[in-house]
Amino acid sequence: MPRRCTVCDHPHRHSIDEALVTGAPYRTVAKRFELSASAMYRHKTEHLPARLLQAREVEEAASADDLLDQVRNLQAHALDILERAEKSGDLRTALAAISQARGNLELLGKLAGELDERPVVNLNVSPEWLELRTVIVGALEPHPAAHRAVLRALEGAGNG
Ligand SMILES: [Zn+2]
Repeated sequence: MPRRCTVCDHPHRHSIDEALVTGAPYRTVAKRFELSASAMYRHKTEHLPARLLQAREVEEAASADDLLDQVRNLQAHALDILERAEKSGDLRTALAAISQARGNLELLGKLAGELDERPVVNLNVSPEWLELRTVIVGALEPHPAAHRAVLRALEGAGNG
């Protein structure tokens, strides 16, 4: 028997999914709904993409589209912040935006993967990701230490 997910079984599951998709930290959402952070994390990474698809298949098509749109909007915001942070030389904000954008891409990648019924999504071949990667690496070139650190992190993420 698979273990029940306390988030999937939660009466406010839809509100929880919405909060997660709009970028609220899973720990914050867990606290708000009095659920464990580990259950919330597992739900976010393992169940949320499938949930969005199920919602699309059944009667919540509009709502699922809405969630997808929200992820896309979030991504546009993250890229906008990244661009502005780069222009002002604010590396700390740029790195935070990169990290947020990467999370969004992973979620979009998972959703795209589920739609294509492919079990594995290789982010390294996503044109959106390659473009973002080029922007990130290029922007950090004047800062050799940050440049090296980000390259290392990107390579580690790509391989693992
Ligand atoms: Zn779940």
